[in-house]
Parts: sequence; structure tokens; C-alpha cells
Amino acid sequence: MGAPHARGRVAQDLPRLRRGAYRRGGYRLWSLNLGTPGCPLYFLYAAAHGAEWEPGYGLMTFARHVSEGRLSGVVDLAKVRVKIIPVLNPSGYDRMGRQNANGVDLNRQGDYRWEHFKGRDSNNDGVWGPGDYDWKGTAPLSEPEAKVYHRISQTPELHAVLDFHANSSAKNNRIGFLAATGHPDSEDLAENFQRTALLRLRGRHLLRQNDEQDASPYLLDDVSMGSGSPYLMNTSAKGRFGVLIELNGIYRESYGTLMQTDVTCELCRALFIACPPAAY
Ligand SMILES: [Zn+2]
Repeated sequence: MGAPHARGRVAQDLPRLRRGAYRRGGYRLWSLNLGTPGCPLYFLYAAAHGAEWEPGYGLMTFARHVSEGRLSGVVDLAKVRVKIIPVLNPSGYDRMGRQNANGVDLNRQGDYRWEHFKGRDSNNDGVWGPGDYDWKGTAPLSEPEAKVYHRISQTPELHAVLDFHANSSAKNNRIGFLAATGHPDSEDLAENFQRTALLRLRGRHLLRQNDEQDASPYLLDDVSMGSGSPYLMNTSAKGRFGVLIELNGIYRESYGTLMQTDVTCELCRALFIACPPAAY
């Protein structure tokens, strides 16, 4: 894959951080692992859509901060376990594309209501199939990356999930969606999550996105219930707390990466505060 930092320099140089790799279909999916086996697992990942790369870099920074003990008051590595996959779709990342190497939208590969999901023939070749915007593949959780994802989802101790996405429209970012399959307390937890994030983000970043007339504060504006689509998160966060976050991104250059990294780190921090091991 093309993310040199994800390849493990972060892991080699830092204490308490373990690098993992899942070999699938000519690619390796790298993970960064912290904490204590058997403890409640926090699963954080980005770039299920390969072009939405920016939060993945944020996740690597978060892993470094935790490893260095900078968040020791928030993330107690003796009591939790953390798995971070900065780039869930490395072939899409390499091509700066949404789908994986087989033209599948991994975030429509989940097993939740997969058979009911109908997408669109976005490339106008007469069929909804490989390469289309939201092609779900030929069976749920059948793509190599989705198989790895499924395995992680089956971890009994899995406790909370953050799924990072990005887009370049202010109307569709700075927002979160809860897993439709999530824990009954998810809306209360989400309120706490959003409040915790806002306490830190208010007054920090001002941004004018393409479709905005004026600059606006960069915050987490809204967290609402997600749809019944076969999002991967609806598989992993079943009965748990899971949030899909849309940040701004898909830039062709590193413009804004510092802000995106900062926001990603703050949202991860907020997750550990809002959803501690004893939350449910
Ligand atoms: Zn996405």
C-alpha cells in the first residue's frame, strides 16, 4: 500500500505500540495496536473509501499520542485495547479512488440489509456493477478487506467503533451518524461524545469550504441516527456504540491536513471519554 507512515515507522519507534498486518489479495492491511488483550476493544479506522485519506493520517497521530502517554488521563492502556486501521482500503487509496481493486464500495459490503440495498449505475454502462459509485459486491462481506473487517467485528470484547470518512462539501461534513444497529443508549452516548468534542474544538479552526460564502467554525455540527444501509459499521457496532464521522477531505494535496489531524485526534479522545468501558 502507498501509505508509508502506516507501514510501521510509527510502530517501530514508539513504546507500547504493536504493528499488525492482514495479508489479503496482494495487499497488506496494516493495523496499529495498543493496550491490554482481553480488555474492551476500541476499533478506529479510516479510508474504507480509499480517496478519503486525511483522517487516516489523523489516526496515526492519535496512535502516536496514546503511545507516548500524552493521553494517559483519557486512555488507560491497562484497561482498554485499541485497534487502529488507518487505511482500510489500500488499493483505493493508491488510486485515490472510492472503491477497492474489484470496484466494490466497501461501505456497502456489510451484512446489515445488504440484500435490500439498491445503488445506481453511476458510470452509465447500463448495469449497477463494479466501478459504480456504491456497488455493493456480489455477496455481503465477501471482499478481502471486508473479510478482515468481519473478523475484527466478531471480537467479543469489541466495545466502540469510530469510522472516519471525508468529503468536500460543507453540507455533508462536520457530521456524524450512529450505527442503526447500535446499543439502545447510543443517542445519549452520542450527546456526550459531541459535547466532549465541542468543548475542545470551539474556537480552534475556521474554514471556508468550496460551497461556503464565508468562513465558518469547524465543529462537529450534528450527530444523528444512520440509515439502514449495509454500512460496515452496522456490522461491527451491532449492540455497541458506533459513529461514522464525515470530515472535510479528499484533497489532492496536503492542504488542511494539520486541521484534519487535529479534529480526528479530538474525536478519538472524545470517544474514550464519552464511552468508557463501563458505559454499558
Ligand atoms: Zn466515505
